[in-house]
Amino acid sequence: MKLISIFLMFLACNTTPDLPVEKGATNIEMPATEMLADTIVPAQYDAQGKLIKVVKSKEDWKKQLSADAYRVLREEGTERAFTGKLWDNHEKGVYVCAGCGLPLFSSETKFESGTGWPSFYQPISKECIAGNEDSSYGMLREEVECARCGGHQGHVFDDGPKPTGLRYCINSVSLRFVKQ
Ligand code: FE
Repeated sequence: MKLISIFLMFLACNTTPDLPVEKGATNIEMPATEMLADTIVPAQYDAQGKLIKVVKSKEDWKKQLSADAYRVLREEGTERAFTGKLWDNHEKGVYVCAGCGLPLFSSETKFESGTGWPSFYQPISKECIAGNEDSSYGMLREEVECARCGGHQGHVFDDGPKPTGLRYCINSVSLRFVKQ
């Protein structure tokens, strides 16, 4: 009997605690090295066809991201116009989320907005983008977020060019460019 109790105690001590995942959210494991390289990490779906989210603690995001990227992606900051690496990029390729590598925009839909931020008239797909209304600074704006990791990308305005009439105004630091 004593032996059985010792065995049960051993089992209890070896139970791994659950990861702190939001209720109802499924998580995808992302190797940190993959996040540092300019790689595309395609969308993955669960059995119900729902996009599998990336859920991380503040501390883990801080470890992964530069201070500037953390301030913009995780604290809804904005980089200064004409200071980012990608507003004047004219190469062909894919712009992925700097937080999780999800493809968000294509060079095919990038245009010269004159704002000093990378600007696109549409995302790669509507489901890669999430958004909230943002009423900060006395303006009502539609926020643009990565649908997988919730990283803040920028805002969308309705003064863009044809064919959509939309202007996705995105921070360079929220994106990584993967050359085609
Ligand atoms: Fe993301």
